Amino acid sequence: MPDIHSSGIVANSQDSTCDVDVAIVGGGFGGTSTAILLARQGMRVALVDIHAVYPPDFRAEKIAGDQIELLRKNNLLETVVGKATPVGSILNTRSGRIVDEREVEEYGIFYDAMIGSLRAALPESVKFMVGRVSELETGSERQRVILSDGRQINARLIVLATGLGDGMRRKLGIERRVVREAHSLAFGFTIQAAKDEPFGFSGVSAYGEKPGNKVDYLSVFPIGNIMRANLFAYRDIRDAWVAELRNNPREAIYSVLPGAQRFLGNFEVISKIDQRVNTLMVSENYLRDGVVLIGDAFRTSCPAVGTGLSRLLTDIDRLCNVYMPEWFATGEVHAAKIAEYYADEEKRACDERAAHAAEYRRSSTIGESLRWEVHRRQHYLRRQMRNWVRQLAPRSRAA
Ligand SMILES: Cc1cc2nc3c(=O)[nH]c(=O)nc-3n(C[C@H](O)[C@H](O)[C@H](O)COP(=O)(O)OP(=O)(O)OC[C@H]3O[C@@H](n4cnc5c(N)ncnc54)[C@H](O)[C@@H]3O)c2cc1C
Repeated sequence: MPDIHSSGIVANSQDSTCDVDVAIVGGGFGGTSTAILLARQGMRVALVDIHAVYPPDFRAEKIAGDQIELLRKNNLLETVVGKATPVGSILNTRSGRIVDEREVEEYGIFYDAMIGSLRAALPESVKFMVGRVSELETGSERQRVILSDGRQINARLIVLATGLGDGMRRKLGIERRVVREAHSLAFGFTIQAAKDEPFGFSGVSAYGEKPGNKVDYLSVFPIGNIMRANLFAYRDIRDAWVAELRNNPREAIYSVLPGAQRFLGNFEVISKIDQRVNTLMVSENYLRDGVVLIGDAFRTSCPAVGTGLSRLLTDIDRLCNVYMPEWFATGEVHAAKIAEYYADEEKRACDERAAHAAEYRRSSTIGESLRWEVHRRQHYLRRQMRNWVRQLAPRSRAA
């Protein structure tokens, strides 16, 4: 069985001071990808992260949709999904009925394994430093990154890729506005089919059945030889159902998704249940000389809509391929130049799509008004009809 958790590389720089073009603070998905892209362009890059090896962490566990194109475009797809498991096809279901079945290009992989593969692909020229950044000094000409052990990096630009970490952003005086506190809950766990009832699918999604249940969907997909489940709900973490999910997971799931029983049978949860409360936040007053924010450091997304990595990859794509080469060719990287990146049409459109999708998904899942009821019925009916047409099409062509 392939190693489905992180591999990772060891730090290659113990220098007490170094001079680079770009210092990247945070070596998660965003920071590590940025380091690869910039080093390939010949830039001198330092990447700093607290962890030598990214630890197991419940975050994105799937690569899907536009993320595949963005990774392919930037020559990162093989790196990220090389050890991932192709999902193949997904059976989309609701209330015990099949909505549609689609062949998909999607890959299941644990987050630490994605970062491990990215770090292993860092060009040798990248100075990878393990440590906690404790101070940032920024200005129009030179930036300084100071680690808690005293090591320093001098750079022309800092990329802040610290994800949900708050410390560095606050030190720079960059605030975060909460769009919605505890917007959604995400749960991740591993399941196993009952001995005499093997799963009859490659991947399955079971969508919420009633708005009052406040469950968006359960997605089950392969990672290596295990079946992983991600469940998204719009509930309070103190809700009794959340406690029930930890104590009697199968019963708790079937109490809100009874129709899923037809596809999952008497499955067992065979791992601990990871849970996350997802608050939607956007950075404010972020425009300043010498520092640029990407990914979750700039704004967070709702995991239920799976747009976090799309936003992050769009940030990186625009920053590394369009703006950075231009900025570095023309002198200092001051705020007026950095403003072009934040105003980039593709970046803004992607951020807005993610924000809209988060609101839409929540309302369309839990909205109890007649309007949302009609909307839900039409939505699933349209999908079912498209599915019937797809199934009939080859037969009618053959006839
Ligand atoms: C439960 C859950 C499920 C999700 N599912 C999906 C999904 O299915 N699809 C999707 O597209 N998105 C999903 N997301 C969102 C996605 O995982 C994030 O958008 C993405 O991982 C953010 O990457 P990042 O590089 O911005 O941050 P991270 O990958 O978190 O990296 C931040 C790094 O900064 C480092 N760091 C922080 N502070 C310091 C410091 N002071 N000094 C040194 N290093 C520091 C940390 O160690 C860390 O390595 C999900 C998120 C969650 C929480």
